[in-house]
Amino acid sequence: MKEKKDCKIVQDLLPSYIDGLTNEETNQFIKEHMKDCDECLKVLEDMKKELKQDKKKVSKQEVDYMKKYKRKMTVLKVIIGIIILGFVLIIGRRTAIMVSLSNKAKNAILSDNYYARLQSYQGNTLVITESYNKGDNYCTTMNYYSNQYQDRKLIFYKNGEEKIVVSEYEGEKYQLDAEHMIDGKIGPVTYVSEGFFANLQYALLVGIRTTYCNGKECYVLLGDGYERYIDKETGLAVRTIEKSTKEYNRETDWVVDYEYQFNTVEDSHLVKPDVSQYQKLQQ
Ligand SMILES: [Zn+2]
Repeated sequence: MKEKKDCKIVQDLLPSYIDGLTNEETNQFIKEHMKDCDECLKVLEDMKKELKQDKKKVSKQEVDYMKKYKRKMTVLKVIIGIIILGFVLIIGRRTAIMVSLSNKAKNAILSDNYYARLQSYQGNTLVITESYNKGDNYCTTMNYYSNQYQDRKLIFYKNGEEKIVVSEYEGEKYQLDAEHMIDGKIGPVTYVSEGFFANLQYALLVGIRTTYCNGKECYVLLGDGYERYIDKETGLAVRTIEKSTKEYNRETDWVVDYEYQFNTVEDSHLVKPDVSQYQKLQQ
């Protein structure tokens, strides 16, 4: 039996010895001591056992944690997947609706025989536009009604090479320089674009609901500051509302109602203004 004093030293050194921190000379000393001292040997073995169990505990905790983490990640991935899928479905549905509307509107837009009536309201002003279109010829009349100004009328007429624009305002009748006036042709309006990608881009910007407007079953495109009602059957505009906004200095909503008739226009609808009644305006 070695001296108890040695045992005390050896046991103090054991933790460092197990961790391999002791130098060669110390190791030799410990080994020599162990040969003759069962007590210290037992302490060493107990220490090693305890260390193993601690390691096992730690690794089990790590595994549990990883399992939990993986489970959480799976749930998160599923949720993100559902959100993406939902988004794709919504955008896909909107795009499909708009592609279908633009296909329906195609014939109308290419038509060269139609009557269009637009009623535009903004604040105190009502403008009624009626346009008869046949081939390249047209006759478009715009009537302005307002409680701020006197009524005003504009007529755009085109027949072959002949173009006439006249105006009636404050009891005066003027013939305007038709060559320098904007075109009076009013085309059928649809608010969907042609082609899949254009509609897809649009679909990202608007919401779509079904509703009735002016007695027609419609889709309404709800965008930033506007509502556009489109006839489900024809793909053509039924109503647009440009909301009042400070950004564009618009104090009141601007509403336009649209109405179309196809293949009903006859030559007699294109009434040529009697220019002898109108005073030529000097430019
Ligand atoms: Zn000992």
